Amino acid sequence: MMRVLFVTSECFPLIKTGGLADVSAALPLALTERGVDVRMLLPGYPAVIDGLDGRRVVRTLSGLPGGKSGRLIVGQLANGVTAYAIEQPELFERPGNPYLAPGGADWADNDVRFGTLGWVAAEFAHTGSSHQWQPDILHGHDWQAGLMPAYVAFQGGRRPGTVMTVHNIAYQGQFSPHTLSALQLPAHSFQMEGVEYYGGIGFLKAGLYYADRLTTVSPTYAREIQSPAYGCGLEGLLAHRTDHLEGILNGVDYGIWNPSTDPHLTSAFSPDRLDAKVANKAALQAEFGLEPRLDAPLFALISRLTWHKGADLLVESLPTLFARGGQLVVLGTGDKSLEAALLRVAGSHPQVAGVHIGYDEALAHRIQAGADVLMVPSRAEPCGLTQLYAMRYGTLPLVRRTGGLEDTVIDATPAALADGCATGFAFDEPTPGALTWTVRRAIDLFQDRPRWQRIQRHAMARDFGWEASAQAYADLYRRLRPGC
Ligand code: ADP
Repeated sequence: MMRVLFVTSECFPLIKTGGLADVSAALPLALTERGVDVRMLLPGYPAVIDGLDGRRVVRTLSGLPGGKSGRLIVGQLANGVTAYAIEQPELFERPGNPYLAPGGADWADNDVRFGTLGWVAAEFAHTGSSHQWQPDILHGHDWQAGLMPAYVAFQGGRRPGTVMTVHNIAYQGQFSPHTLSALQLPAHSFQMEGVEYYGGIGFLKAGLYYADRLTTVSPTYAREIQSPAYGCGLEGLLAHRTDHLEGILNGVDYGIWNPSTDPHLTSAFSPDRLDAKVANKAALQAEFGLEPRLDAPLFALISRLTWHKGADLLVESLPTLFARGGQLVVLGTGDKSLEAALLRVAGSHPQVAGVHIGYDEALAHRIQAGADVLMVPSRAEPCGLTQLYAMRYGTLPLVRRTGGLEDTVIDATPAALADGCATGFAFDEPTPGALTWTVRRAIDLFQDRPRWQRIQRHAMARDFGWEASAQAYADLYRRLRPGC
């Protein structure tokens, strides 16, 4: 049986700052169901060590980066997957955000902390957990695992296959060159054909340079990051490695995002009981104090409020949206200026706009259920999840045609409508004009109820579960290690 060690710095529900945690929770399980023996390696944050069921010490770890020693702990995650944690209190026994100190700045020793994650992964493949379970493949995620393929490349003896997945190219793990020797990286590796990146040590750069295979979380993003507009400086390296780079979409956990069983909803619904969706719309309008008009198209945004997510474009489209009879609800946090702009809009249009600044999982479900259109006007979007949830809830996504949004939403063009394959709305240019025009198209189509319902039913039937994605990863592993 193929053995894969998943090297990651987050795993829901133990430690989460973003989508990586969800992927780390769902994908190993889906792979296990496909006959791959997946185990995880995580930094031993307090929440991780406490969260491991039946935990025990496997062995001691010595000669770690920075001359430290520690212990390898093993236990079971709540989903039954086996996980190893690196117990090294000086590096990882820090509660709260895994990357940031309480003041909000990066921890000053993040290079040694996450270098240690990569170092232990490589050593693990070399010697095994306790000489019993040795991975055939090391699969690292994002910059935090970026040094893993470098350490493997410098090791003699048995060499596992290495895969690196990019969840967001904007986060690269760029550090000072001074820790090169503390990280036990050979001096000759500090060059363009190695770990060097803009004069420092680039963790993600190193991973992308040394790993056997590279993946990212949608086919379109895989193409985009090979270009200067999206590659954030790594486009040259990625273009050079294009034959070893592929995009595999993230999946949705339909156990959590299912409108017929969702405990957060006012009224459960399904493609056959679509009429029951309107009770959720009425409840949402009431919750946000909007005019109780079922004939008003209700637009929603559930997002980090940032420039990358296009929240500023959305603000500029609102005069047209309101003039054409639309309503808006927003759930998000982020840039203070965008939060303020949205709150100003809600203050001046209380009948038609409601804004909740904050993070609220239950409200996100109620909005997905009650809205008619979910807006995702991102400038860049590696995969995106909210548009996938929206489709399952019969809420048509209105997206910018980029990354995973382009791969998952079919624009309601005349041809797509005639074919019956449309699932939402899409625009190309990241400009207020292009978004506004698409808002108008959505509002016009909303007046044609039978046609709107046909699109809803089609969107609800699309399957973005983990099965197909897990199969694609399993195939990739088997291509890399055909004998296993
Ligand atoms: P990203 O990871 O770039 O933020 P995704 O669309 O991949 O974007 O994932 C965002 C996830 O976070 C979704 O599950 C979405 O429902 C959730 N989310 C974003 N903002 C909020 C919020 N303010 N409250 C609740 N959930 C939110």
